[in-house]
Amino acid sequence: MRKKEKVIIRRSPDYNPEIIKKIVQEGLSEFGLSSKAKGKITIKPNVVMAHHKIAPSAFTRPEFIDGLLGALTDGKKDDSKIVIAEKAGAGLPTSRMFRRAGYYDLKKKYRIKLLPIEESRKKTVRLQRGEVHQEVTTAREIVDNDFLVYAPKLKSNVLCQGLTAAIKLNMGLLLDKKRLWNHNFNLDKKIVDLLEVGFPDFIATDAIEISLGGNQLTQHGRHLGIILMATDPVAHDVVCSHILHLDPQHIHHLRIAHERGYGSLSLDEIEIEGDISLEEIRQKTKNWDLGLVKVDKVDCNIKTIIGEPYCPGGCHGIFLDWLYMFKDRKPELWKNLPPWTVVIGQHSGDVSASRVMVIGTCSGIQGKVKARKLRKIRGCPPKHKDLVLGFFLKAGILNPLFRFDLIMDAYFFLFISWCKRLIKGRL
Ligand code: SF4
Repeated sequence: MRKKEKVIIRRSPDYNPEIIKKIVQEGLSEFGLSSKAKGKITIKPNVVMAHHKIAPSAFTRPEFIDGLLGALTDGKKDDSKIVIAEKAGAGLPTSRMFRRAGYYDLKKKYRIKLLPIEESRKKTVRLQRGEVHQEVTTAREIVDNDFLVYAPKLKSNVLCQGLTAAIKLNMGLLLDKKRLWNHNFNLDKKIVDLLEVGFPDFIATDAIEISLGGNQLTQHGRHLGIILMATDPVAHDVVCSHILHLDPQHIHHLRIAHERGYGSLSLDEIEIEGDISLEEIRQKTKNWDLGLVKVDKVDCNIKTIIGEPYCPGGCHGIFLDWLYMFKDRKPELWKNLPPWTVVIGQHSGDVSASRVMVIGTCSGIQGKVKARKLRKIRGCPPKHKDLVLGFFLKAGILNPLFRFDLIMDAYFFLFISWCKRLIKGRL
């Protein structure tokens, strides 16, 4: 009989690093990993974006990493080398996001290295089972280490049928060009390809405050008060999907991971331990809205016409994410968005509207168009920042992300980061 994978769920009422440290130490011990967690240790958190006003709940909190580092280093006299490696969202320099997330303060307490993956020495791994990627280039520290720890933040995500947990964390291994490549109807296969490179030895998930209900970057946090620990990312994500009342069969990257033999989607094959039951957590989350709708069903002034292909991980999902930024951070404007008509994908039929925006390189209208203004934003898919800038320049709509400090991050500091990479020969 197949051995059951174990997932531990522990109560952690707040971000107290000492309590988190104790919980993680007990988790490591329970998995028999206390003595194995040494040597070259790489921690991969989720720092896709961090900003005190606009994205305060999008990343693994530094207090959580503090507790995790405490657990990994406590009482150990060996000279373990701990690296925290991450690539922030496409078009954002990771060093700025580390700073905004408060990770540099951790360096005052622990002997660690913060490693923006784009600035690292790279290693290319040829994949045996990749369907989208034949090879993956990422930081050497992700590939060559003695102990790989994943520290995701539990979040909802409209690009991935509702869930961002351990498996989706692997998108942060990729450099921007490859990250956006096939970030369309192939996104879920792409995510699963990455398990060949990023398969953690231990997972400790920040679910003390989870974030949900809108855009993956800007949505609001809600207190859940738990930490999850596991060694198997599929079992871990199955439990996370049940916490959010999602069916793991309907989360495409989980289903594909299961089909490729990475693990079972059945709760019957997972042993859940800890000091809080899954049922108790589900009672708490039962009415939490994840914002999971098709983009043409969003109730706002902007009308969306969807054509083929429908890309939840591409233009359709990213535009839904763009709309949700207003709901999350500019609720007044959300109710009063200018009445544009947006076309995404190949639409067969006529379109008659005052202002029409076409999103996506492949998108177009196979019919008559009657419009006072007709604009297009290209990309397969366009980056979030392309939509933010494109809608400002072509439609005069000011997205909440359109802020001076973030523009500096996304252009000036990105350029500085690129110069550093150029000088070090790490482009
Ligand atoms: S350009 Fe077309 S294929 Fe590419 S993400 Fe957009 S809708 Fe999908």
